[in-house]
Amino acid sequence: MTEKKILLIVCDGLSDRPVKEFDKKTPLQQARKPAMDALARRGVSGTMDVIGPGIIPGSDTAHLALLGYDPYKVYTGRGPIEAAGVGIELRKTDVAFRCNFATVDKSMKVVDRRAGRIRSGTSELAKALDGIKIDGVTVLFREGSEHRGALVLRGQGLDHRVSDVDPHSEMRVLESKPIVPKARKTAQALNKFVRKSTDILSNHPVNKERIKQGLPPANIVLPRGAGSIKELEPLGQRYGIKCAAVAGVTLVKGICRLVGMEVPDVPGATGGLDTDFKAKADAALRLIHSHDLVFVNVKAGDVAGHDGDFRMKVQVAENIDMMLGLVLKDLHEDVVVGLTCDHSTPVSVREHSADPVPLTISGGGARIDGVKEFDEVAAASGAIGRIRGVDLLPIML
Ligand code: ZN
Ligand code: ZN
Repeated sequence: MTEKKILLIVCDGLSDRPVKEFDKKTPLQQARKPAMDALARRGVSGTMDVIGPGIIPGSDTAHLALLGYDPYKVYTGRGPIEAAGVGIELRKTDVAFRCNFATVDKSMKVVDRRAGRIRSGTSELAKALDGIKIDGVTVLFREGSEHRGALVLRGQGLDHRVSDVDPHSEMRVLESKPIVPKARKTAQALNKFVRKSTDILSNHPVNKERIKQGLPPANIVLPRGAGSIKELEPLGQRYGIKCAAVAGVTLVKGICRLVGMEVPDVPGATGGLDTDFKAKADAALRLIHSHDLVFVNVKAGDVAGHDGDFRMKVQVAENIDMMLGLVLKDLHEDVVVGLTCDHSTPVSVREHSADPVPLTISGGGARIDGVKEFDEVAAASGAIGRIRGVDLLPIML
């Protein structure tokens, strides 16, 4: 390993498409972003297919790729990533699920898949579920951000190949089915847990209070995305470096923890539009002193993309630019800085898309090409050309 340090900043979902109503510009092209553009001018740019050309990345697969892991080889469902993100130390025999707190009526039909986007009280609700036993299987349950949570089934003879309980729309709750015969016990335990969750949650004081206030009660847990952890060679070991990550959103924290990065909790880094950009900048600067690689995820652009909000996305780009400016001001010039996105979330699509994302790498002796701006179009003429996500870290190293 060289003595050079690396700071990689990922603007989640910030990459976009031209928007007709705004002069066919993308939010990045519209934004005032002196720090990002300065970085592009001082470095080398390109575009990136984070998973592969034409493939729409999820944030989870995208981040695995950006950290140099082939998502097709390590991916077993989002459950383990969510569980690691909320701080559960997974064992290889565990089966983990992502969950929503949701609202069902008496006939077990889902009336609100996010229980009115419940934000408070979920830690009490999670505690009521954590530690219960079902046929010799122990349940671990933790709340995640907003209406989300993570469920882990721990016991003998479990297998992650079971179908979702979450119907993913407002219809009757599904029975989990084993996809292979070996997973029968897991599906049974999961179905029993879900029924038990409605009993426990329906009578919980948090929900009695919600009903009093006219809010939908979080009276069921809907698991999905079952998975088990695979043996991942820790990133630090792979490259002989010390790595840390700054992220607000549970899923990204989970991935970084799964690959053995240090992920301190940064107060104010929420993963939402209200995230504290300055707190993230401070954390990144602090960590780069003691680590070789610091990875920063800013989620807010993805949120604005899903909301289809062009102006908000421009604002997010400008906020990230402010954060980057603060970082660059105090950063040693030998640090190699990478700036990119994990995928596009175009406001015209309101979902992730397969459009390649812009990338710029600057400092530490990186070449300087003619690109003067950080955006989807300018980056495409850069000297890096068009690469895949798994190639990024090796190139930066
Ligand atoms: Zn993402
Ligand atoms: Zn997204």
